[in-house]
Amino acid sequence: MNTNNLSTSVIFPIGEKLETDRFKGTVWLKMLTPADSALPIGNVTFEPGCRNNWHKHAGGQILLVTGGRGYYQEWDKPVQELHPGDVVTIAADVKHWHGAAKDSWFSHLAIEVHPEIGPATWLEPVADDDYNQLK
Ligand code: MN
Repeated sequence: MNTNNLSTSVIFPIGEKLETDRFKGTVWLKMLTPADSALPIGNVTFEPGCRNNWHKHAGGQILLVTGGRGYYQEWDKPVQELHPGDVVTIAADVKHWHGAAKDSWFSHLAIEVHPEIGPATWLEPVADDDYNQLK
Protein backbone atom coordinates (compact mmCIF):
# COMPACT_ATOMS: atom_id res chain seq x y z
CA MET A 1 0.00 0.00 0.00
CA ASN A 2 1.11 3.54 -0.67
CA THR A 3 1.09 5.39 2.62
CA ASN A 4 2.96 8.49 1.48
CA ASN A 5 0.31 10.93 2.60
CA LEU A 6 -0.75 8.78 5.53
CA SER A 7 2.42 9.00 7.56
CA THR A 8 1.46 12.18 9.37
CA SER A 9 -1.98 10.88 10.32
CA VAL A 10 -1.17 7.55 11.93
CA ILE A 11 -1.44 7.55 15.69
CA PHE A 12 -2.74 4.07 16.41
CA PRO A 13 -1.80 0.88 14.56
CA ILE A 14 -3.49 0.53 11.17
CA GLY A 15 -4.31 -3.13 11.73
CA GLU A 16 -5.53 -5.44 9.02
CA LYS A 17 -7.25 -4.88 5.71
CA LEU A 18 -10.93 -5.61 6.26
CA GLU A 19 -12.52 -8.06 3.86
CA THR A 20 -16.06 -6.72 3.71
CA ASP A 21 -18.81 -5.86 1.24
CA ARG A 22 -20.06 -3.17 3.64
CA PHE A 23 -17.50 -0.68 2.32
CA LYS A 24 -16.62 0.60 -1.13
CA GLY A 25 -12.83 0.74 -1.46
CA THR A 26 -10.21 -0.51 0.93
CA VAL A 27 -10.45 -0.08 4.67
CA TRP A 28 -8.17 -1.12 7.51
CA LEU A 29 -9.22 -1.93 11.06
CA LYS A 30 -7.39 -2.32 14.33
CA MET A 31 -9.52 -3.02 17.39
CA LEU A 32 -7.97 -1.11 20.31
CA THR A 33 -10.30 -2.65 22.86
CA PRO A 34 -11.89 -6.07 22.35
CA ALA A 35 -14.91 -6.21 20.04
CA ASP A 36 -16.82 -8.01 22.79
CA SER A 37 -15.85 -5.55 25.54
CA ALA A 38 -18.10 -3.02 27.27
CA LEU A 39 -16.83 -0.24 24.98
CA PRO A 40 -15.41 -1.50 21.67
CA ILE A 41 -13.04 1.02 20.09
CA GLY A 42 -11.64 0.50 16.62
CA ASN A 43 -9.07 2.48 14.65
CA VAL A 44 -10.55 2.70 11.14
CA THR A 45 -8.38 3.83 8.22
CA PHE A 46 -9.95 4.50 4.82
CA GLU A 47 -7.95 4.71 1.59
CA PRO A 48 -8.79 7.73 -0.59
CA GLY A 49 -12.31 7.31 -2.00
CA CYS A 50 -13.26 4.60 0.48
CA ARG A 51 -16.52 4.91 2.40
CA ASN A 52 -18.94 2.64 4.18
CA ASN A 53 -22.50 1.82 3.17
CA TRP A 54 -25.41 3.54 4.83
CA HIS A 55 -25.87 1.94 8.24
CA LYS A 56 -27.15 2.50 11.76
CA HIS A 57 -25.95 1.51 15.20
CA ALA A 58 -28.46 0.10 17.67
CA GLY A 59 -26.74 1.83 20.59
CA GLY A 60 -25.11 4.74 18.74
CA GLN A 61 -21.49 5.53 17.87
CA ILE A 62 -18.88 8.22 18.47
CA LEU A 63 -16.20 9.06 15.88
CA LEU A 64 -12.95 10.78 16.88
CA VAL A 65 -11.14 11.94 13.76
CA THR A 66 -7.40 11.34 13.94
CA GLY A 67 -6.12 11.91 10.40
CA GLY A 68 -6.76 12.99 6.83
CA ARG A 69 -9.95 14.46 5.36
CA GLY A 70 -13.30 12.76 5.17
CA TYR A 71 -17.05 13.03 5.46
CA TYR A 72 -20.00 12.18 7.66
CA GLN A 73 -23.61 12.33 6.54
CA GLU A 74 -26.93 11.54 8.14
CA TRP A 75 -29.88 10.59 5.95
CA ASP A 76 -31.66 13.69 4.53
CA LYS A 77 -28.97 16.00 5.95
CA PRO A 78 -26.03 17.83 4.36
CA VAL A 79 -22.62 16.18 4.21
CA GLN A 80 -20.18 17.32 6.91
CA GLU A 81 -16.49 17.54 6.07
CA LEU A 82 -14.26 16.09 8.79
CA HIS A 83 -10.71 16.89 9.87
CA PRO A 84 -8.43 15.72 12.68
CA GLY A 85 -9.83 16.71 16.05
CA ASP A 86 -13.47 16.57 14.95
CA VAL A 87 -15.90 14.59 17.07
CA VAL A 88 -19.12 13.12 15.67
CA THR A 89 -21.80 11.85 18.05
CA ILE A 90 -24.21 9.51 16.28
CA ALA A 91 -27.48 8.78 18.01
CA ALA A 92 -28.91 5.27 18.15
CA ASP A 93 -30.66 4.09 14.98
CA VAL A 94 -29.72 7.16 12.91
CA LYS A 95 -28.98 6.17 9.30
CA HIS A 96 -25.58 7.52 8.20
CA TRP A 97 -22.29 6.86 6.44
CA HIS A 98 -18.67 7.96 6.89
CA GLY A 99 -15.54 7.75 4.80
CA ALA A 100 -12.59 9.39 3.09
CA ALA A 101 -12.44 12.21 0.59
CA LYS A 102 -11.47 11.20 -2.96
CA ASP A 103 -8.00 12.68 -2.60
CA SER A 104 -7.15 11.87 1.00
CA TRP A 105 -6.63 9.08 3.42
CA PHE A 106 -8.90 9.33 6.43
CA SER A 107 -8.74 7.80 9.86
CA HIS A 108 -11.00 7.89 12.87
CA LEU A 109 -11.54 6.02 16.09
CA ALA A 110 -14.98 4.43 16.08
CA ILE A 111 -16.43 3.95 19.55
CA GLU A 112 -19.44 1.66 19.73
CA VAL A 113 -21.54 2.93 22.61
CA HIS A 114 -24.05 0.71 24.39
CA PRO A 115 -22.97 -2.36 22.42
CA GLU A 116 -25.20 -4.51 24.65
CA ILE A 117 -28.25 -3.07 22.85
CA GLY A 118 -27.33 -4.76 19.59
CA PRO A 119 -25.19 -4.68 16.45
CA ALA A 120 -25.11 -2.30 13.52
CA THR A 121 -27.58 -2.72 10.67
CA TRP A 122 -25.98 -2.45 7.23
CA LEU A 123 -27.93 -0.90 4.36
CA GLU A 124 -27.38 0.19 0.75
CA PRO A 125 -24.17 1.76 -0.65
CA VAL A 126 -23.85 5.53 -0.88
CA ALA A 127 -24.83 6.46 -4.44
CA ASP A 128 -21.74 7.05 -6.59
CA ASP A 129 -23.35 10.16 -8.11
CA ASP A 130 -23.78 11.69 -4.65
CA TYR A 131 -20.28 10.78 -3.46
CA ASN A 132 -18.62 11.95 -6.67
CA GLN A 133 -20.13 15.44 -6.26
CA LEU A 134 -18.31 15.98 -2.97
CA LYS A 135 -15.34 18.34 -3.06
MN1 MN B 1 -21.20 4.41 11.76
